Amino acid sequence: MKPIKALSDGARRISEGHMNHEIPAPANRDDELGLLTSTFNEMMDRLRSNQLEIEQDRIRLAEKNEELQHANEILSQLSITDGLTKLHNHRYFQDYLTREIKRVSRTRDPLAMILLDIDDFKQLNDTYGHAAGDEVLTSLAAIMNDTARESDLIARYGGEEFVILMPNTDLAGAVHLAEKLRMSVESTRLIIGDGMKPIEITISLGVAVYAGDRRRFFAEADKALYQAKGAGKNCVIIAGAGAPEARPPS
Ligand code: GH3
Ligand code: MG
Ligand code: MG
Repeated sequence: MKPIKALSDGARRISEGHMNHEIPAPANRDDELGLLTSTFNEMMDRLRSNQLEIEQDRIRLAEKNEELQHANEILSQLSITDGLTKLHNHRYFQDYLTREIKRVSRTRDPLAMILLDIDDFKQLNDTYGHAAGDEVLTSLAAIMNDTARESDLIARYGGEEFVILMPNTDLAGAVHLAEKLRMSVESTRLIIGDGMKPIEITISLGVAVYAGDRRRFFAEADKALYQAKGAGKNCVIIAGAGAPEARPPS
């Protein structure tokens, strides 16, 4: 009876989760009970090794999942970032604007926008080359990052045109930033390429505040920027104001 008891005890212990339990071999290993015990133990051996493989697969899968998640994060970051300047791109700006408009419709907080464009950039490209032009774009992005607040959204709208969306900022605040930016760009001597000859650039800026109509918000900033170009460039124009907010001494 002893081997039978050892077998049934063993089966019970295993069913209770003691997977490493080994049923002691009976005195006579060659009879049917001996065979049953060794077959049972071999079966448990296989089960344990299968379990180990499953655990290793689970760990590998978890690692792959983590890698995939990381790659996804990078991908989603790339999809909202401008490759050259590392600023947010046009798509992100539109999404952000949607969210901000939703928010300010509820809170009635002010929301302002600056649309800006480098003056005579085509000529700069023609004079110094496209690579130098690219460096200028990156330098301008750095100036904007240094000048704007953490809470402002700076995006490359396209080409040499940028947009800054300023939550909780009224017209006076937006004009202040626009003018600060204009002066900062004007006074910065950009060291490009071999650095032999610093490049100086200027920007034109249009400022608008949100007044309940998204399309109009952007169109007004755009129109103000256009007027800034017409007013001689290197100046800030407030939407609806018509005259330059700040014009460099001629
Ligand atoms: P304005 O003062 O009226 O703005 O004139 P502009 O020459 O700056 O404007 P225009 O629209 O005539 O030319 C824009 C130039 O910007 C032409 C285009 O090749 C250049 N540009 C756009 N994107 C890039 C870019 O990623 N890198 C470089 N280097 N140049 C670019
Ligand atoms: Mg331009
Ligand atoms: Mg342009």
